[in-house]
Amino acid sequence: MEFDKLIQSFIVPPKQKISLKKDYDPAYKADFLKKEDAQQILQEGIQQLAKYQDILYAQNTYALLIVLQAMDAAGKDSTIKHVMSGINPQGCQVFSFKVPSAEELDHDYLWRYFKALPERGRIGIFNRSYYEEVLVVRVHPEILERQQLPPEAKGKEIWNRRFEEINHFEKYLVSNGIIILKFFLNVSKEEQKRRFLKRIEQPEKNWKFSLSDVKERGHWDDYMKAYEDVFNYTSTEWAPWYIIPADYKWFTRFAVATIISRQLQSLNLAYPTVSAEHVQELLKAKDALENEK
Ligand code: AMP
Ligand code: MG
Repeated sequence: MEFDKLIQSFIVPPKQKISLKKDYDPAYKADFLKKEDAQQILQEGIQQLAKYQDILYAQNTYALLIVLQAMDAAGKDSTIKHVMSGINPQGCQVFSFKVPSAEELDHDYLWRYFKALPERGRIGIFNRSYYEEVLVVRVHPEILERQQLPPEAKGKEIWNRRFEEINHFEKYLVSNGIIILKFFLNVSKEEQKRRFLKRIEQPEKNWKFSLSDVKERGHWDDYMKAYEDVFNYTSTEWAPWYIIPADYKWFTRFAVATIISRQLQSLNLAYPTVSAEHVQELLKAKDALENEK
């Protein structure tokens, strides 16, 4: 099936070295797919998602953790808004991770993410995640200085060690029923510029823009290198990375919704079956209700 092949092409193959620049085109949109068709499929995907999420919640066994990483203006917020639009708010939680607080800095670096993990039956979205600990923290060494680490934990080996710790952390989660989907929304530097300019030109978008966004853009190449390392070291069989083309927002939404919906489908979720005893009770209750005076 064409979609399966398409989805497969976004996965970073575990234990292989990829090149972000050479292997993943931010402006890709599948030739066989027209924008209108993709929007139609997105709508269907959203309905499917709502259906699966209802069963996920009723079953209360698995949880789904969705990790979203990207450069600024790649479309994280709008992807969350669109893809999750059909979902029962009770079964879904979104956490947006910002600069850590003093309390958070007084803990080990995974602490605040651990606390935010979704309960069984829920979909949890991390808008930024523990991957910032090997991205922004790597690009800006002064942030690492604030993390109160003992000297022996700070050496050159820290990034490889963190990759390994993250892999183990995710393995532990997956083994315990928390399924993980990791998306990198791959926007090009040119498209980011266009979106920044729009945020400056349109008054209702001004709030979304800050000068620090331009400053981070200045570190673009460092970020791309850090991201490439993340993909090469933390795309695993149990929690692979998906690199989603993000220069066309309609394509990003279509791709993310399709992948989430297929992941849930693959779990073969089913509503809990009730015992014969419970069925008897239901019949009794029905009887009582119908014969109410
Ligand atoms: P935004 O998502 O645009 O609201 O920005 C959140 C900001 O928090 C970004 O500039 C991130 O780089 C920053 N941030 C997120 N996680 C961390 C972290 N663990 N350490 C330092 N800064 C972070
Ligand atoms: Mg921002």
